[in-house]
Amino acid sequence: MHELSLMTNLLDDAVSAANGGPVCALRVRVGPLSGVVVEALRFAFEALAPGTAAEGARLDIEETAPSFHCPRCGADYSTPVGSYECPSCGSPGGELRGGHELELISIEVPDHV
Ligand SMILES: [Zn+2]
Repeated sequence: MHELSLMTNLLDDAVSAANGGPVCALRVRVGPLSGVVVEALRFAFEALAPGTAAEGARLDIEETAPSFHCPRCGADYSTPVGSYECPSCGSPGGELRGGHELELISIEVPDHV
């Protein structure tokens, strides 16, 4: 299950971004073509977070739509999975430009009082 090693990296990033302090929440962006199973990623988080600074943290997952670039009119657009037509000119042949991402977008740390 490669989500375990992916989550290990995401946790490392989050913990070092928090400078060793506790982490309340992690926000992760997952593209539809990344091959990552969101449920497996959540499971990996539950398995790996205890004992780290992110123990008990919330995991927010943002799933993105694939993005395309139209070679005919130059538009950049996103469509639901299964539909590739350019909304500007109707060209069916958009080039896939995104959707493989798996990245840590942000973390939340506790407010210091
Ligand atoms: Zn177009």
